[in-house]
Amino acid sequence: MSRVSVRRGVATHRGRVRDHNEDSVLAEGTVAVVADGMGGHAAGEVASAIVTETVAELLQPEVEGSPRRADVVAALERANERIRESARRHREQAGMGTTATGMALVADGDREQWAVFNVGDSRVYRLVAGALEQLTTDHSEVQEMVQAGVISQEEAAVHPLRNLITRSLGLDPMPEVDVRLLPAEPGERFLVCSDGLSNELSSDAMAAIVAGATGPQEAADALVRAAVEAGGRDNVTVVVLETEAGGDDRGSALD
Ligand code: MG
Repeated sequence: MSRVSVRRGVATHRGRVRDHNEDSVLAEGTVAVVADGMGGHAAGEVASAIVTETVAELLQPEVEGSPRRADVVAALERANERIRESARRHREQAGMGTTATGMALVADGDREQWAVFNVGDSRVYRLVAGALEQLTTDHSEVQEMVQAGVISQEEAAVHPLRNLITRSLGLDPMPEVDVRLLPAEPGERFLVCSDGLSNELSSDAMAAIVAGATGPQEAADALVRAAVEAGGRDNVTVVVLETEAGGDDRGSALD
C-alpha cells in the first residue's frame, strides 16, 4: 500500500521558433521524466525518446514492487548506452544527446521516497508556501559561474552561454546522475520542465500559474501557453504532479 497517489498534468509545445519538438516526456504511474534532446537532423528527438522509453521500463509489471534508487540510475545508464548505440548505427545521429530530469517513487527500506534525478539543465521544482523551490542543480556553464561567484543567478538567466550544458546523456563515459531522495508526502505539488519553460518565465510567474490552477492538467496547459506567449523561443515541456493521501501501488495512480 502506497502512502501517496499521484494526479498529473502534461503539456508540450514546439514553441514559436523551432520547426520541430525535440523534447520528450513521460508521466505515468509515479514516474515522470522530461528529456530535452539536441542534435541535427531530428536526432535530438531520437535521443530524448530513448530516455522516456527506457525510463518507462521502471513501470513494467515484471519489476517486482517499487523500483529502488539504483534502478533509476540503471535506467539512465541504459538510456545512455542505447543513445550511443543508435548514434553508432546511424551516422546522421552522431553527437546527439539529451537531458534527463524527473522523479520516481522508490522504495528505500520500508519507506517511500521520491528519487529526484537530473542530468543536464531541465528542472524539478516543488511548490512550497506558494513559491517554487528548485530541487535540481543545473549542469550548465552558467550555473558553474554562479557557484564560483563570477555571476549572479539573475545574470545567469540572461547570459549568452546559458544553453551550454556540462552533462547530458549520449556521452562516454556516462556522466554522473544527481539523485536526491525526499520523503513522499500527500498534499505536495511538483513541476518537471525543460528549459523552454524556465527560460521564458520567472519562477514567481510559474508559481503563480501553478497555485492558481484548479488541477495539474490545467496548470500544465497554462504554463506551456504562458511560455509560448512569452516568446516560445524553444520547445516547452512540463509535467505537474500533485500527491494525495492513500492510493494503492503504482498501478492505481489517478489520471
Ligand atoms: Mg530546451
